[in-house]
Amino acid sequence: MGKAPAAGCDDAVTGLLRNLPAVGILLESEEIRSLTGQFPRRVVLDAAREVIEELRQRAIKERSIGEQDVTLSSLADSILRRIEINSQSTFKRAVNATGVLLHTGLGRAPLAPAAQKALHEAVLRYSTLAVDLDTGARGDRNSHIAGVLRGLTGAGSALVVNNNSAAVLLALNTLADGQEAIISRGELVEIGGMFRIPDVMRRAGVTMVEVGTTNRTHLDDYRNAITDRTALIVKVHPSNFRVEGFVKEISVSDLAPLCHEKNLPLLYDLGSGAMVDFHQWNLPPEPTVQEAVAGGADIVTFSGDKLIGGPQSGMLVGKGELIDRCKKNPLMRAIRPDKMTLSALLATLRLFQDPELLPETHPLYTMLTQPMDLLEKRAGRLAGMIERVVGEKGKVLVQKSFSVMGSGSLPARPIPSWVVALKMNDISPENVGKLLRHADNPVFTRIEDKNVMFDLRTIFDDEFDFVCKGLVYSMSI
Ligand SMILES: *Cc1c(COP(=O)(O)O)cnc(C)c1O
Repeated sequence: MGKAPAAGCDDAVTGLLRNLPAVGILLESEEIRSLTGQFPRRVVLDAAREVIEELRQRAIKERSIGEQDVTLSSLADSILRRIEINSQSTFKRAVNATGVLLHTGLGRAPLAPAAQKALHEAVLRYSTLAVDLDTGARGDRNSHIAGVLRGLTGAGSALVVNNNSAAVLLALNTLADGQEAIISRGELVEIGGMFRIPDVMRRAGVTMVEVGTTNRTHLDDYRNAITDRTALIVKVHPSNFRVEGFVKEISVSDLAPLCHEKNLPLLYDLGSGAMVDFHQWNLPPEPTVQEAVAGGADIVTFSGDKLIGGPQSGMLVGKGELIDRCKKNPLMRAIRPDKMTLSALLATLRLFQDPELLPETHPLYTMLTQPMDLLEKRAGRLAGMIERVVGEKGKVLVQKSFSVMGSGSLPARPIPSWVVALKMNDISPENVGKLLRHADNPVFTRIEDKNVMFDLRTIFDDEFDFVCKGLVYSMSI
């Protein structure tokens, strides 16, 4: 081939390298020309270059390459395989066997069928995203959802943005830029790496005034901190941890009268966005958006992809006059949601108009409310399938374990579940986990007591085959 062999190569290797055809000649050959008919020439060329380079490196390293590796038909096979590998997206469907219902790395909640359908409609052709049907002029993209949110939450007005972090930033900046906001020391929380309340306040242009202590804050702490410079009182739901023991927190309904007496707005960052009473499913009661609004919060912010189980989004609900000010903030343009988000979110929110049906209409709630006896039965079925795949090479057990909500929601309460536990004789659980992640349909598991765990609460029935195929692949490597 054209390139000079690497310095220090002996004659045998030089000879081998000479045997490699030049890429140009390769592409003109009959065998490869069939590929250029199927794939863009550029794609074939890149793959051919990679295959030749790999052989070149191998010749230098191992001082030999088999004659059979450089025949045109074998090169064509290698190039086709390479094209297939190169064309695979790294962003694909995954099986969530971790038992974490809202797994941020796996895209949080699966969308409800109604939301998938709405999303499909919205992106198929053009849509009525932001037009006034009467005049045909530009309309308000926020209007579709505002009505549904008002009905669901009892708030006077509503606004959708990219995520809850954006909602908090927007509210802080709109209501207290260049001024002071009062917040309890017990609520200076961090929500996953980059979102820390003190940092967000600073970025929003707000001077933070901390009151109370880590574990106890009283109403008088807030009252005594209010001055002429105060523009806002902020409350944050510590959604991803619990403090127990000698603690005192002022509720929204106790704080709201003070705020209104002093003519100050009360911003409540609720985070997880519970719209229904979780107590009915034996889970710890989460403060709901409805309670926050009824309790007198002037703006409540929350995520669309935590307990609402919709697409990534954030919402602000509250007093019309304050929401209008948020809408007019120039930041709004930078954080406005697109048609995919809005269509999927709208359809998801509509499901909450019929909360009793959520376990049937919404996959997050189907998973959450699955009874233990059904989980046990499904675990038995998956275990049988896995046993047939691993045979004598591993041990398969069905046992009780715990799922969690994830994404910092409902932190204090593990959710009982049934799992299939797998221990392979010759592959470490870490390795099984890694191989499963690299399968054609990646499977994500958790490791417990040196077992690979498949949690039935987050695996769908039609994914059992993917799990088995993943194991077949893992055992073939
Ligand atoms: C999750 C959460 C956020 C961040 O919301 P994202 O939608 O993930 O950006 C902010 N505040 C609280 C209290 C949260 O729980």
